[in-house]
Amino acid sequence: MPETTVTNWFGDIVTHPQVVVEAASVDDIVSVLKNPNQYPSPVRAVGSYHSTSPCGSADGGTIIKMSKMNRILEITPDTVTVEAGAIYIDIAAALAEKRLQFHVNTEIGSLSAGSAACAGTKDASMPGEFGQVGSYVCGIKMVLASGDLLEITDSQPELMRTVRSSYGTFGIVYQVTFRVRPVAPLSVRHENYSLQDFTANLPALKAGGESLMFYIFPFDGQITVEFRHYNPGADGDPNRALWPLRNYLWATAGPAVCAQAGRDIADLTIRYQVIDAFNALWRLKLTVLMKSDNTVAADQIIRYPAVAGASRYTFSLWAFPEEAYPQVMSDCFDFCRKYYTDTGYRSDMLFVGYRVTQDQNSLLSYSYDGNAMTIDPVSTANPGWEAFLIAYNQFCSDHGGTPLLNQTKGVTRPQVEKALGSRWQTFADARKTYDPQGRLLNAFFRDLLGE
Ligand SMILES: Cc1cc2nc3c(=O)[nH]c(=O)nc-3n(C[C@H](O)[C@H](O)[C@H](O)COP(=O)(O)OP(=O)(O)OC[C@H]3O[C@@H](n4cnc5c(N)ncnc54)[C@H](O)[C@@H]3O)c2cc1C
Repeated sequence: MPETTVTNWFGDIVTHPQVVVEAASVDDIVSVLKNPNQYPSPVRAVGSYHSTSPCGSADGGTIIKMSKMNRILEITPDTVTVEAGAIYIDIAAALAEKRLQFHVNTEIGSLSAGSAACAGTKDASMPGEFGQVGSYVCGIKMVLASGDLLEITDSQPELMRTVRSSYGTFGIVYQVTFRVRPVAPLSVRHENYSLQDFTANLPALKAGGESLMFYIFPFDGQITVEFRHYNPGADGDPNRALWPLRNYLWATAGPAVCAQAGRDIADLTIRYQVIDAFNALWRLKLTVLMKSDNTVAADQIIRYPAVAGASRYTFSLWAFPEEAYPQVMSDCFDFCRKYYTDTGYRSDMLFVGYRVTQDQNSLLSYSYDGNAMTIDPVSTANPGWEAFLIAYNQFCSDHGGTPLLNQTKGVTRPQVEKALGSRWQTFADARKTYDPQGRLLNAFFRDLLGE
C-alpha cells in the first residue's frame, strides 16, 4: 500500500501513514479498529492536529481524521455534549446562543473535543476554577482498541482521571460531554513589570484573586501580566472589539511581522532591535488599550485558519511549581541570553506563561502537586528553533519542570520520567490493560514509555 503524508497544523511534524480515514460515524472507527489487515497499526486519531509534538503520528499505520464528526448533540443548562471532532470555537458559539460559556476559554479555537477529553491543554485558571479543559469533561465515549465501546462518566473518577490524559492510547474518543457555566462579564487589564519588580510583587499578585497570564520578554527583562476576573456587576454592553484586537495582533500580525523581519533583515543585531521594538509596542498596546470591565470570555477563542499561512507560529510548554517560578524565570532569561551569545540563535517571538491552579483531575496533569506556572517560548520556528528546544528542554528539566506530551516538542524519556515519576508508571500500566497489543501505540509514545 502506498504511504501518504500528513503534517501537523504548523507543518513541522510529518508522518507517513498507510491509510487515512475520515470518520463520519462511530461505526467507521469500529471498522478501523476491528480490521488490522485493512487498517494497519498504529491507529491514531487527530482533530485539528495543532499539537506541537508527534503525539498524533502514525508512520506505516492508520490516521483517523475526526473533523467530520463535528455535531453538537445536546446543550443542557450545565453541560454540552458533542461529537469528538467538533472544535472549541464552534461549540462556544452554540453555547453563547443559550447564554452559556466554557469554564476554560483557551485562545485555541481549533481544539477538538476529542483532544480536549484525552490530551493536555493550558490556560490561566480563573479564580476558583481549573485551567485545563479536560477537568470539565464529565462524560467520554470511546471505541477501544478491540473495537468495543466504552462509556465513562465522572461517577468513575479514577477511570476518568486516567482517560483524561490517555492521548488516544486507550481508545478513540467519539463523544464528549463538558460541564459549562452561565455567561458572565469578564474584566481584563494588563500591567508591565521589570523582572525585579515582578519577583517582588508576585506574592501580592497571587494573593489578588485574579487569573494571571504572562507575556514574557527575556531579552528586555520585562513581563506583562494579564489580570482577569469575572465581574457580575458590570453595566452596559460588553466591549466586543477588545479580544478581537488582541487576537489579531497576537495570532495574525505578530507572527507575520516577526517572520518577515527574519526574512528581510540579515544583520542579527538590527533584526532583533526591530523585533524588540515591536515587542515594546506590543507591551504598550496591552497596557494602554487592552483593558475593560466588561468583555465576553468566549471572544478570547481564536479561529485559526484550517491551513496555516504566513501568520503561523508554534511554541513549547514547561510548567514549574509556582514557588520556584521567580528563580526559574530569572535563570531562563540568563539561559536565553547566553544561548544567543554562544550560538547566535534566539526565538523571534516573545514567551508566554500561565498560572494554573493545582489540578488532579488528570493523571499526567502538570499542576498535579500544586499550583504551577509555565514558561512557553513562542516562535515562527526561525532557523535554530529545533536545536534551541533541545537545550531549553534540558534547562527546564534541570529546573524541575513538567512537560505536556502534546505541547512540548523534543521531550525525552528521562525528562518525562523525572517530571511524572510514579504517575508515568501508573499510566504505562493502565495503558497495557486497555491495549495489550499496542494497536494504538505510535513510535512517539512507545519511545517515551520505553516499550
Ligand atoms: C497556534 C497554536 C496555538 C495554540 N494555543 C493553545 C492554547 O491556547 N491552549 C492550549 O491548551 N493549547 C494550545 N495549542 C496546542 C493545541 O491546542 C493542543 O495541542 C491541542 O491538543 C490541539 O487540539 P487538536 O484537536 O488539534 O489535537 P490533535 O493535535 O489533533 O491531537 C492531540 C492528541 O490527542 C489525540 N486525539 C485527538 N483526537 C482524538 C480522539 N478523538 N480520540 C483519541 N485521541 C485523540 C491525538 O492522537 C494526539 O495525541 C496551540 C497550538 C497552536 C499551533
